[in-house]
Amino acid sequence: MPLTDEPAAVMNPARAKRLTVELQSKLLTYRLQNWRQVAAPNLTLDHFTTPTRELALSLATCIVGDDELRSQVFPLLEGHDRQIKLDRTSLLEALVLESLLAACHDSRSDTLPIGLITQSVNTILAGRGEALRVSPEVVGWKLRGLGMRTEFMADGRKGLVLLGETRVKIHALAVAYGVRTLQKAPSNLRCAHCSSVTI
Ligand SMILES: [Zn+2]
Repeated sequence: MPLTDEPAAVMNPARAKRLTVELQSKLLTYRLQNWRQVAAPNLTLDHFTTPTRELALSLATCIVGDDELRSQVFPLLEGHDRQIKLDRTSLLEALVLESLLAACHDSRSDTLPIGLITQSVNTILAGRGEALRVSPEVVGWKLRGLGMRTEFMADGRKGLVLLGETRVKIHALAVAYGVRTLQKAPSNLRCAHCSSVTI
């Protein structure tokens, strides 16, 4: 609509109805004239995550006959995609910490093979309806990124030894990453570290 200094006229119901009929017929005509041309553009959008790629294609598909306008859609989605990538990165760290926290609360575990942490992360992912699955290599990198030192255990597998110092670190990081299970920890859980951390 063109910008104007004039006050907008108040529309009475009869005029609104007439306008609705007029616009609906114009929109229908536009649809009938253009629907054959509505097609997903053949573009490579590999640098986007899947949700952003789908959104970009849906938006671009709606623009018919204006390639320049269509190409302007993609830069607008860069920020949105960066946020998704960021969320995903921290999601995995939080899940690894959630698994480590569960191991801290399980008195049977003093050593934790990477394979077992991987299994636990994938179980949490599946439980939350995520299609993503991680490999032991990815978990190993995440542990390293979190400053957790893995070592070879007696059986030759690589893993994490849950020393007191490591348990303190896991709890502190779980707070920093907002691990859900820490926030929902039952009050009768006998864990000295849980009671000493501030959520
Ligand atoms: Zn605890």
